[in-house]
Amino acid sequence: AMVVRDGQEIIIPSRELVPGDLIVLQAGDTIPADATVLDSVCLSVDESILTGESDSDSKDLRTPKLFTGTAIAAGHAEACVTAIGAKTEFGHIAELTGSIGSKQTHLQKHLSKLASQLGFTALIIAGGISVLGIALGRDLTEMLMTGLSLAVAIVPEGLPAVVTITLALGAAAMVRQNALARRLQAIETLGAASVICTDKTGTLTENKMTATRIWTPDQLFQVTGTGYDPAGHIEADDGKRVRARDDAHLAQILKIAATCTHARLVRGQKDWAMTGSPTEGALLALAFKGWQSRATDGDIISEIPFDSDRKRMSVLSRASEGNEILMKGAPEAILSVSTNIRTADGNQPLGESNHNSIREAYEEMAADGLRVIAFAARKTPEQNITESGMTFLGLVGLIDPPRPEVRDAIKSARSASIRVLMITGDSPVTARAIAAQVGLDADTVVTGKSLDEQDDAGLRELLKSDVILARTRPADKMRVVSTLQAQNQIVAMTGDGVNDAPALKQADIGIAMGIRGTDVAREAADLVLLDDNFATIVGAIGEGRRQFSNIRKFVRYLLSSNAGEIVALVVNIAIGGPLIFLATQILWMNLVTDGVTAVALGLEKGEPDQMEMPPRRKDEPILGVGGVALICLLGLYSGSASYWIFNSLLDSGVDLARTTAFTAMVTFEKISVFAFRSLHLPCWRIGWLSNPLLLVAFVVTMGAQVLAIYWTPLQHLLHTVAIGQNQWLLIAGFALPLLIVPELVKTIQYVASQRAR
Ligand code: ATP
Repeated sequence: AMVVRDGQEIIIPSRELVPGDLIVLQAGDTIPADATVLDSVCLSVDESILTGESDSDSKDLRTPKLFTGTAIAAGHAEACVTAIGAKTEFGHIAELTGSIGSKQTHLQKHLSKLASQLGFTALIIAGGISVLGIALGRDLTEMLMTGLSLAVAIVPEGLPAVVTITLALGAAAMVRQNALARRLQAIETLGAASVICTDKTGTLTENKMTATRIWTPDQLFQVTGTGYDPAGHIEADDGKRVRARDDAHLAQILKIAATCTHARLVRGQKDWAMTGSPTEGALLALAFKGWQSRATDGDIISEIPFDSDRKRMSVLSRASEGNEILMKGAPEAILSVSTNIRTADGNQPLGESNHNSIREAYEEMAADGLRVIAFAARKTPEQNITESGMTFLGLVGLIDPPRPEVRDAIKSARSASIRVLMITGDSPVTARAIAAQVGLDADTVVTGKSLDEQDDAGLRELLKSDVILARTRPADKMRVVSTLQAQNQIVAMTGDGVNDAPALKQADIGIAMGIRGTDVAREAADLVLLDDNFATIVGAIGEGRRQFSNIRKFVRYLLSSNAGEIVALVVNIAIGGPLIFLATQILWMNLVTDGVTAVALGLEKGEPDQMEMPPRRKDEPILGVGGVALICLLGLYSGSASYWIFNSLLDSGVDLARTTAFTAMVTFEKISVFAFRSLHLPCWRIGWLSNPLLLVAFVVTMGAQVLAIYWTPLQHLLHTVAIGQNQWLLIAGFALPLLIVPELVKTIQYVASQRAR
């Protein structure tokens, strides 16, 4: 929340607000506490979160109450906090409301499908075998116990915990890399993204703007200095320094830069700090470089704020010679309401030749990647703003350098077959220039206006190629997302403004900006970029891919372990005799030993080639045919081996036979985990020690099994007895192939694939 404390506007965490605080609210802010409006300009508040009605309510001083959780849709205000936390209207409602439902992610859908399939299988197999046994005349209690053991064996009880732990650890890792997931599954879904729709300013560029050029119909000025530091100066063509008082035309432009703004520059200990929009901050710094003082708040009578749809901002300013409308914005948006142009010969009607020279100057600046802002003004006797009949004054070019890391991030996205589409509110020429600087080659640049002329089929066709969308409005983003989704693409969309919220909600992954994003955009998003940086998105995609691949690894691992138990039990029941495993032993295997190993498997690092693969298909199952085959093969081997051990030791006593079979099954499961570390690369390629936690888990779970068979309390609990050296040798003999064979097969595959390259 922006609050005035000790006469300074500062940003503090909302939870530190107290009643009586003076807060400053801008469009896009979520109101942080119940408050009373003291002063406002064009204030409109979206109270739909409280009222359920989507229309914004225009607030003025007759209805001065603002409620926590509602959002400023437009305008700005100063308000005094009246209630905080649970004492607010929102707090009362929150007490009464439970959690709000949200859309299911692809992972949730896949997992619930898998859960019902497993549940169904468990019912059929466990029920079927019990009924069959009873029908064949076997003991009722024994068959009920067998059915129960089978059901326990089929269901991977540790799975929900392992999935949650993996996602939570992944999300924690991502926060350290500046991507904050608002839902646990967000990053995993991002891993499947096939298109990233990104804005330009601040995401591909630094959003540290500096004015470098000023154009008027008669002069071109250069500006020195960097950042928001007003230490710099304006130079005319002949290299002479100029200030506002030397040139009335320049002075008028600088006055607009200093008046038509909400930015503030404050001298910090080391550097100048800016609050507000970077565009306005850079223009304010420009005004100071030209020795133009800032208007006092009392000079501004009214304002039409900037928004991305209109792409301009106007204020009505009180001056000694009468009121004046001062306006700045995108050149097209200013030209569309201008009828005159100011030149050295005075004001003239804006004709074709003026349009041409303005366009030339504009394109020249934009081709260098500059953001161009146009300025206009008009005297008026009225007390309100009518945006027409303006006098065009000139252009200012702002440099906003591309982020250095973006080029590599785009390359990496490309090699992962992810398309990157730039959707910007900036001009087509600037957009193309910045795209070229970051290595985003595009066939065409299309403007928001020409999108309106395209029907849905045309837009679908257009979005198949690499395009840049420039001068777009927030509503265009929504159309682009839906069109891409209709083409079966998984879309990640960035946004920062209030009007971006619907598109962020609609996208498979809505990404809001942590620094310049509005609260409304952040609340609509699944992921918040704490550094606003495009490269962070690509990093998060890598993390998402790692998470899905690891979920897939441990699901397969857990099920292959269960398959071994089922095979052993089924063979055991078919042949008859005492039960090979007791229900408590199965639970021990599934929950204690498998659970720990699976969590460690979830921490596997991303495979070296994960960003060289295309994104996974939307409907790609967790198991897949290959997965089922692997589960069956390993299950058949470990199940029959344990049964063979059990059967061969029965003569030495059922407890010894059962304990050895139980320990054999646990050992097989532990050894086979190495086969699941990568589904296509051998361990020597990914590094035997690259997941130290897996080795720790291996030692800990084998240690737990040793306790289970030698420590008396656990012996009682699990009905085990101590086993001897011979039994251990037998187990080791059967376990070794589980380590060697998968390594061998993957090595052969790997060598063959390297040769094929
Ligand atoms: P992106 O979507 O890539 O972040 P953007 O920030 O340039 O693009 P908008 O905020 O919609 O998109 O700005 C569109 C245009 O409006 C800019 O190119 C600029 O010419 C103009 N503009 C931006 N900020 C202001 C402002 N504060 N006042 C007046 N005009 C502005």
